[in-house]
Amino acid sequence: MTKKIITLPEDLTAQIAAGEVIERPASVVKELVENALDAGASNIDVELREGGVALIRVVDDGEGIEAAQAPLVFERHATSKITTLDDLSRLSTLGFRGEAMHSIASVSRVELLTRTNEETAGTRITIEGGRTADIIEAGCPAGTSVKVEDLFFATPARKKFLKKTSTEQSHCVDAVTKLALANPGVGFRVSSGSRTLLDVRGAHSETDRLFLIGGNDFRKQAVVFDQTRGRYRLWGALSTPMLTRSNAKAITSFVNGRPLRDSLVNRAVITSYRRIIEPKRYPVAVLFLEVPGEEVDVNVHPAKLEVRFVNEGAIFAAVTSVIMEELSFIGMHGGTERPERFFSIPERDIGYSHGGGAGEPAVRYHLAGKSKRMITLPGTISQDAFKPRYEADPEAAAVNEPVSLRFTDLDYLGQVAATYLVMGGGERLVLIDQHAAHERIIFERLKSSARLAPPPSQRLLLPDIIDMTPGLFSVLMEFIDLMEEIGFEIVPYGENTVSIRAVPPLLSGLEIRQLIVDTIDEIENTGGRRGSLDEIRENLLAVMACRAAIKANRRLGREEVRALCSDLDTIPNAGTCPHGRPVHIVISSHELERLFKRR
Ligand code: ADP
Ligand code: MG
Repeated sequence: MTKKIITLPEDLTAQIAAGEVIERPASVVKELVENALDAGASNIDVELREGGVALIRVVDDGEGIEAAQAPLVFERHATSKITTLDDLSRLSTLGFRGEAMHSIASVSRVELLTRTNEETAGTRITIEGGRTADIIEAGCPAGTSVKVEDLFFATPARKKFLKKTSTEQSHCVDAVTKLALANPGVGFRVSSGSRTLLDVRGAHSETDRLFLIGGNDFRKQAVVFDQTRGRYRLWGALSTPMLTRSNAKAITSFVNGRPLRDSLVNRAVITSYRRIIEPKRYPVAVLFLEVPGEEVDVNVHPAKLEVRFVNEGAIFAAVTSVIMEELSFIGMHGGTERPERFFSIPERDIGYSHGGGAGEPAVRYHLAGKSKRMITLPGTISQDAFKPRYEADPEAAAVNEPVSLRFTDLDYLGQVAATYLVMGGGERLVLIDQHAAHERIIFERLKSSARLAPPPSQRLLLPDIIDMTPGLFSVLMEFIDLMEEIGFEIVPYGENTVSIRAVPPLLSGLEIRQLIVDTIDEIENTGGRRGSLDEIRENLLAVMACRAAIKANRRLGREEVRALCSDLDTIPNAGTCPHGRPVHIVISSHELERLFKRR
């Protein structure tokens, strides 16, 4: 026997947020497919005509509805999914307001055809503009088929707001795609006339479904991962910094299987890509967050697209920490291959500080107190000083196609435009932007020193005295704490004068006076004093890294190139500079053949 359908009591209906349920054909599609999922369907077929305006038919092989219950389906607040207020907080189904079928029936012509497995005869109900036209016994397969015709026929004003047929159709397909992502065990098909718009059946693995939204570009430039942080599990796919979009629409996230719009999770994604991709660009991401039921409240938004978390801070921290860790592997060896872990994030480090800074990976670099400078490349310090401590993780098996590229394995062929290093790597040609590469190295190292207390710092034999304009002096005073976090020791010394007593060893070979003045000047001019403390700190590091990095237009010696490459092999995020521009470009032999028209 199936569950009983009841009419919700008044107090409960008031508590459930009301709202426009049916905005456009895609909303109907979503509600019908969700009902099919709630009915335990294993195959769901969606047929559209004219973008769903003329016809939407959803056929499922779920549990069906008993003949006696079927007429209740279209009653307002008729649902079989909750009976008491208490149930609301423990909801595991997608529907629960008992409003969708009622709303759909009031703005279209609906035919419901349904049969349970136990019954031999099915039921056909037709209903027009909300009024039941006919109920008869009818033969049909077990399961439910809902046909919705002439959407908004009774409300022409509404119909006018619909977009082009093709737009409405793609919204319908998007709605099903999201549900297909969230329900990997279920087969979905969407068609319009003889065209198949979406077909995900059993043959599609869970990983394949991840790329339904981002397409082939995404598949080629994605990191697939699955991690657990305490009570939270986060898995999915993230684009490498090489693939970005001009808006955040390609970030899709699900919490406990529900698709979300504009969520905390999406904000955490964007924050994690800061300093890895260019400003105002957005990644492609499909993420599934699993959180214990008692920590989420799904009854916030009438369309159920938003959830409220009991512990927002911990979730934000966990999501950023997982994503930043995953991203940090990219470019380390040129590909998305996951190397052995070079850091791990202890549970207790996941706290939340407002502004979103927490959850940064606690990189366990062993910094030597004082580094030897081996070569003349400004700011590059001894390899040994940064030996990462490896922590093998059996779960960390690479899911991606391995594209291994170790910078130290490349042959240095020469320099072009005194800026780009040309490297040969067996089957491919690799171009490295020397400035961008060095910038990323300095940025990552300053960042990891800032995590140490005390940070490595090198005392100057003679303090550097800097006279500044009153304007610059006051900006520097604002930054003095952050500068000390990375190893500077700066003491105000009379009016508008400071004495620099110690510097980060990484920068010790440089003209410090100029570096500080230029950095402060640029921060002042580019508005880098705004944002969260974390953003300000990263901006300071990025500006300083840019100023300290070897410039374009400088000839590099072979030794310097070698040192740069081995540094690149040991830092995270080696794929792009802190402004999000690429550090290196790989041209495969395949592409070379194409260029030479051999293919
Ligand atoms: P809700 O899904 O919020 O309960 P709906 O208006 O979407 O409300 O559906 C009302 C009721 O009709 C559901 O609770 C369910 O019992 C029944 N129903 C609707 N569609 C189906 C279906 N495809 N298979 C089985 N039962 C269905
Ligand atoms: Mg429903």
